[in-house]
Amino acid sequence: MKTHVTVIGGGLAGLTAAIALAEAGAAVRLYEAHHTLGGRGRATAPPYVAHDGAHVFYADGPHYTWLKKHGFVSDLGWPRLGDWTRAGFRVDGRVRALPPIGMLRAQARGRLRAPVDQDFRSWASARWGEVTAEQLANAISVATYDADTGRLSAAFVWELCQRVFGPNIPAVRWVRGGWQRVIGRMAERATELGVTIETGVRVDQLPTDGPVLVATELSSARMLLGDDSLRWTSGQCALLDIAVTASRADRTLVFDLDEGGFHESYTMQDDTIAPPGESLFQLQMPTRAGESPGDTRLRLGKFADTVLPGWRDRTTFHRTGAAKGRTGALDLPGQTWRDRPAIDRGNDVYLIGDQVAAPGMRGEIAINSALQAAHRAAISATKAGA
Ligand SMILES: Cc1cc2nc3c(=O)[nH]c(=O)nc-3n(C[C@H](O)[C@H](O)[C@H](O)COP(=O)(O)OP(=O)(O)OC[C@H]3O[C@@H](n4cnc5c(N)ncnc54)[C@H](O)[C@@H]3O)c2cc1C
Repeated sequence: MKTHVTVIGGGLAGLTAAIALAEAGAAVRLYEAHHTLGGRGRATAPPYVAHDGAHVFYADGPHYTWLKKHGFVSDLGWPRLGDWTRAGFRVDGRVRALPPIGMLRAQARGRLRAPVDQDFRSWASARWGEVTAEQLANAISVATYDADTGRLSAAFVWELCQRVFGPNIPAVRWVRGGWQRVIGRMAERATELGVTIETGVRVDQLPTDGPVLVATELSSARMLLGDDSLRWTSGQCALLDIAVTASRADRTLVFDLDEGGFHESYTMQDDTIAPPGESLFQLQMPTRAGESPGDTRLRLGKFADTVLPGWRDRTTFHRTGAAKGRTGALDLPGQTWRDRPAIDRGNDVYLIGDQVAAPGMRGEIAINSALQAAHRAAISATKAGA
């Protein structure tokens, strides 16, 4: 008889682990507290498919090789050429087509390595001046969701800058239908492999019969593992999903070098996620230290006024939200991904997700940690069943 492996949490990490474990021959059961799978990969139901969290993948890492090998990231969407002409950068309150020359110069330094122990602001200021350092930090808030990215480890921020802005062409990928579609495909594959999936079940105690993978946010993991030290820095931002009747005056993609905001059209690469003749956007604005959520939302509204002129009179769908501690791991000076909460917790218990000791950014950490933990748990289950 096979030893069971239990996965707690049915987001990207839990589903990745369940599939990898089942493929290795383990008998897997997965419990998800919510009535649907997906975690932060969920989205609203059509006709407006607005993401609760993630919507892009980067194709330059082992996580993507695994997703692609399984056919989970097929049917990609691409913006048309004309959409790129409406992309830009907010600098001193105005949107311009190109980033400032200082930023371009910095981005061209592909071989430059940044120190782990120093903060990004002081390291980048010494090289390119304070203004460029702040603009780079605000530009990469697209991935940190943090209003003070300059305080993070220089090595961490610089690596993100290199991946997202170049000098190589960024490997960004959009799956038509969004992350929800990827989650749907993963759930189907897990079921095919015989994984027992139970939704609407909140686990409040670790099972003791066989290896356990805890694939929840750190807040839940702290309770399940009874370990208050399971904490890591993450971002905080206000979110705004808006659909409007389409207009050529609308910007498609704007990096906000003034305040760290970000604006993106979702319909430019995927016309299935809003009714014909409408455009769906998501905007984000990081919350400053001590700032109230209402004040962040006000700044976000002003940013929307700049990138979507007259949007308030054209709105067909509107949703506000916030994300605190839900946008992936951020490393402070002196820290690397290796210092985050360990995956192997001892006694056949493993912790996976986007704030644990695995490389990558955001959802990639969830996939990479899941594959690592699944490998170890499968070996352990095989030994126990032998
Ligand atoms: C606004 C925003 C934008 C983002 N954009 C991107 C992006 O473009 N690209 C990217 O790669 N990443 C992005 N991310 C990050 C990405 O969403 C996460 O890294 C990823 O979804 C994490 O997956 P996970 O499985 O680790 O955690 P989750 O998705 O949080 O899944 C954890 C699951 O565990 C369940 N659970 C919790 N406690 C229990 C319990 N006791 N019993 C049973 N189940 C439980 C929860 O209900 C949840 O479904 C973004 C995040 C946000 C918030």
